Amino acid sequence: MTGPDIPESHPRYESLLTRHRIEEGVDLGITSRQGLIAQGRGEAFDYLLGEETLPSADEAERVAAAHLLRADHAVLSINGNVAALAPGEMVELAAATGADLEVNLFNRTEERMEKIAAHLREHGAEAVKGLTADGRIPGLDHERAKVDADGIGSADVVLVPLEDGDRAEALAEMGKTELVIDLNPLSRSAQTATVPIVDNLIRAVPNITAHARDLADASEEELAEIVEGFDAAAALEDAERAIRSME
Ligand code: ATP
Ligand code: MG
Repeated sequence: MTGPDIPESHPRYESLLTRHRIEEGVDLGITSRQGLIAQGRGEAFDYLLGEETLPSADEAERVAAAHLLRADHAVLSINGNVAALAPGEMVELAAATGADLEVNLFNRTEERMEKIAAHLREHGAEAVKGLTADGRIPGLDHERAKVDADGIGSADVVLVPLEDGDRAEALAEMGKTELVIDLNPLSRSAQTATVPIVDNLIRAVPNITAHARDLADASEEELAEIVEGFDAAAALEDAERAIRSME
């Protein structure tokens, strides 16, 4: 991949780099044009958050790591924006937690599915699920419902960064523990999550991995305590307060 011509001293370097990666994702055919709009919405919230991880988001990231480590079968869902922004980081998180990777697209086309799977393999993924599509999420229309039966279909814990609100709700209704990364604390995806992580995917994913490494030797009891002590409503309220007050 070619880098953009942005000096590192630019005050909004990270943001411009992120934008460039999404653009490149569209050019490569892994990100949909809708993904550009989602990126714009995300940037606006990140700007208001000061483009930093809140302490409450860092805590949610630790809780997410504990859930992934405790899971019988965890799956990390990958869409076009995730594949463009953090492919290597998602592969690393999967390795650190023993989770599967599954391509899961709102605007599903076989071509884009294949391209994203290949892109993840280029970034070190060994197995990528999502192409079998022999499972269904109840309550969604045909194309939107497709998942792998031995992937998201049978997972007890799913990490869904930037998931569409309808699908986030449907997955929650299936009884799955849902970890959602979304910069908008008011989005339905964040609201229905077991663990809403209001942070930029770019910062959140490596931080969940760091927490997972830190917790690698933690006991079952310790992990259970971390998970049970989490208050999702308080995390969402804290993020909304930070956005509204811009302190
Ligand atoms: P709703 O959830 O309210 O129904 P939606 O899911 O239909 O809305 P989209 O624009 O499709 O709305 O969702 C994109 C979501 O992803 C937005 O909430 C945006 O804040 C979030 N987002 C975009 N880029 C990132 C990113 N890099 N990191 C985290 N969240 C992001
Ligand atoms: Mg949403």
